[in-house]
This record gives sequence, structure tokens and C-alpha cells, in this order.
Amino acid sequence: MSLVGSTNAEKIWNYCKQRGLNDFGCSGVIANLDCESALNPKNLEDAYQARLGYTDNSYVDAVDTGRYNNFVHDCAGFGLVQWTWWTRKQALPEYACNRHVSIGDMEMQLDFMFKELQEHFPSVIDTLKSATTALQASNTMLLQYECPVNTGISVQNLRASYAQQYYDRFARNPTEGGIDMGYKIVTKKSNTKLSKHFNSNEFDCHGAGCCSQTKINDKLVEYLEKIRCYFGKPITITSGYRCPVHNRNVHGATGSRHGKGDAADIVIPGVRPADVAKYAESIGIKGIGLYETPQDGYFVHIDTREAKSFWYGQACSPRSTFGGVPSIHTETTEESKSYLLHNGSTGNAVRALQEKLVLLGYNISADGMYGPATEGAVRDYQKKNGLPCDGIAGPKTQKSIDDSVDKRHDGDANNSFVVRVTANVLNVRKGPGTNYPITGSIRDKGIYTITEKASGQGAHEWGRLSSGSGWIAMDYCIKE
Ligand SMILES: [Zn+2]
Ligand SMILES: [Zn+2]
Repeated sequence: MSLVGSTNAEKIWNYCKQRGLNDFGCSGVIANLDCESALNPKNLEDAYQARLGYTDNSYVDAVDTGRYNNFVHDCAGFGLVQWTWWTRKQALPEYACNRHVSIGDMEMQLDFMFKELQEHFPSVIDTLKSATTALQASNTMLLQYECPVNTGISVQNLRASYAQQYYDRFARNPTEGGIDMGYKIVTKKSNTKLSKHFNSNEFDCHGAGCCSQTKINDKLVEYLEKIRCYFGKPITITSGYRCPVHNRNVHGATGSRHGKGDAADIVIPGVRPADVAKYAESIGIKGIGLYETPQDGYFVHIDTREAKSFWYGQACSPRSTFGGVPSIHTETTEESKSYLLHNGSTGNAVRALQEKLVLLGYNISADGMYGPATEGAVRDYQKKNGLPCDGIAGPKTQKSIDDSVDKRHDGDANNSFVVRVTANVLNVRKGPGTNYPITGSIRDKGIYTITEKASGQGAHEWGRLSSGSGWIAMDYCIKE
């Protein structure tokens, strides 16, 4: 069995459903795991990170490779459940080893958790299959299985409130859960914001009077954001979602991925379709069609399929590659932009950097060639922004330039305000909404600066942390 879903919360929800838990039961499990580990299977208890000198990732790596051998007896909470007691921490690596997977593997940890529940807490499973409230499900996990030091009323209420949120999100919301999990289904013409650069109208079916909703795969939006950010130019979506009626009317291919909200045909003014296809390939997109003749038109089709299929033109001639993966783009993370650009560098990344410098007022031409003028502009920017003045645009300088450009676009950079976090554990997410992946958590109830607000799933309002580490739900903060 492999895990189904685009976020850890979705994966755990679907896993628990498959194990026969009811909706409240699934909510109770996720709420407890969220409070313990922010749903991060590599989570090493914060208090032990400094003491042991490890981060979540380096700890997992050290245990996996055998460089660290005190896993069983170090008393540090670890993983989704924050396993702590030595007998449980002894059984976990044995279980992982038999599976030949990392100690940080999420599916292994979920299986291990269920094994523990079945062997030692069968009544907890019974309750999770029959619970009638979020509190009942959350408490059976909290009081019988997790048993943290503090199980007082405030802890019970906090976890129950998390459980209720997950219940509302997955059990009640028809756009999440089941086959539509991982998709947005929004009203046509509502222009719902989907991500930093994309709104739902851009994906609307082009037919008239044929449909009232637009369906969009979250993954597709993620891909488009990456492409948008890499080229630094707006993307025109010439065809996004096509409803079944419209698809029939235009004699579109039956079973088209456009009909499922999984595909987009795109054009980036000023960028050759071949370059777009090449970059799409480099970030791991598996469905790519390149069209670049007067007869076929000039655009690139991308979709979210998982088995590779590349083709060329209306004739759909198969292609094995669109030019290979550029070595600088081997990572698929956000950090993929973080490479060194310097005097002598050429290409789209240089052009994108130059365009940003132009936006910031530098009088250089965006020709894709990093020469003395670009180097001079970078040096000047670095000097004015307190960065090491070497004329090389590395990750720090690029990030700073990106931020400056964004600030400029926002028009008003002085919207920031300060909040105090009230939740014991508050997730930090990559974007404004529970549909974005968790990148960390705040556990100190501290004071934080918010630079931007946005609406999104799972909270009334979201705020972007000034640190740049992500977004938090404003519902769990008080304005200072
Ligand atoms: Zn339609
Ligand atoms: Zn298409």
C-alpha cells in the first residue's frame, strides 16, 4: 500500500480511513500526531535538538547510517507519535530495518503505530471506529495511547479543537477527501486565489453555459508556480479545465486530462516553448507536449500524470527528452533557484535576475549574459542591502533581490504588524491555507512579525511570517 494524498494530513487521513476508522477517529489520530510532531515523521523533539546536536533530518540520517547509536536510550521524542520510552524506541528501528526503510519513513511509522494499537490498545481502535465526537476520538488517543506528561483539560481541548478542524476539513468538505482530494473545486468566474501568481479564472472552462465549476489539481498549480518563478514572467494559460460538455462540443479527446483539472496549455510571452518544455522536464513534470510550428501553434501542454509521456506536436510523436535536465536544476525543491550566477554565466536564470534588477531601477539590459554591467548592478545592490559585496548572485543575494521585487509589487511594504501566538503548537505552512505543506511549527507562544495577510483554507485569515519561513493561521494569534 502506498500513501494517498498531497499533504501529510491527507495521507494520514486516507491511511486511517483504509484502516477502518470513522471520520471522527481519523480526525482524533491526526490531531494528536499534529500536536506531537506537526505531522513530520522526521521530527526530533525540539528540546533535544540542541542537546544532541542534531536537526530533524541529520538525526534521521545519523540513525539510518548507524553513525548515531543511542537512539533507543536517548529519551528524545521522535517521529509522528514522538516515541520516547526506550522499549518503544527499541522496537521502532527493528521494524524499520525489517522493512528496509528509513527510520523517518511515514508509512512505516503509521504501520508501527497501528501495530502498537492493535497489540496493546485494542479498545482505542474500537473507539476510533465508533467515536461520535472529535473530543471522544482525540481523548482516547491522548489519554490511552500518547499519554504525554500534561493531559490536563487545556491539552484535551486543544487537541479536540484540532480534531474538529480536521473533521471539518476532510469529512464535511466535499472538495477534500475521496477522489477530489488534492483538487480545488471553485465556482466558475469567482477568480479565487490559488497561489501567489494564479487565480481560478485562468483555469475556467472556455465553454459558455456548459458548467458552473472549475476543477484544478493542486499539483498543477505548484508546477505552474515553479515555471512562473523560474522564468520570472507571467504565464498565459490558453486552456485549463474543460468540462465534459464543452469537451464534447469541441470534439476534444475523450479522457483528456484537461477534463480532470490535471492539465494546462501554457504560453510564456518572450520564451520559446522548447525552453519551457525543457524546464518542465527538469522539475520532474511527467506529462509534457511541445507544440512549436505555425500549424500546431506555439505552446506547451503540461499535466500531472505520474508515468512519463513526452510528445511533440499534434501528431503526438513521442519524445524521450526535451533536452535533458540542466545540471543546475537537479533539485526539485524551492531551493532549486539557489545556485551561483556570476560574471560569465548565461541563460534564462541570468535573464530573470537581470529583469528583476531592471525592476529595481538598474539600467542594464536583460540579455541573459552576466557581464560587467550585471556584475556592477549586483555589487551595488549588495552594498545597499548589507550583503557581502562580491558581485556574485548566490542564494542569499537572489533571495534578497526576489524579496525586494516582491515588496515593490506589493506597493506598500509597511503593512507589517506584531502578534503573539496563543496555540501550544502552531503549524507554519508554505502558503496561506491548510492545503499548503507544513514547513515547521511554532511552540513557544512567542511574539512574531507578520508582513502580509491573505485568505485561505482552514482559518479565517493567514499571516506571512517576516522571517520568510512561511504562513500561520491568524486564528491562533493575538495582535500585540
Ligand atoms: Zn464547461
Ligand atoms: Zn493540453
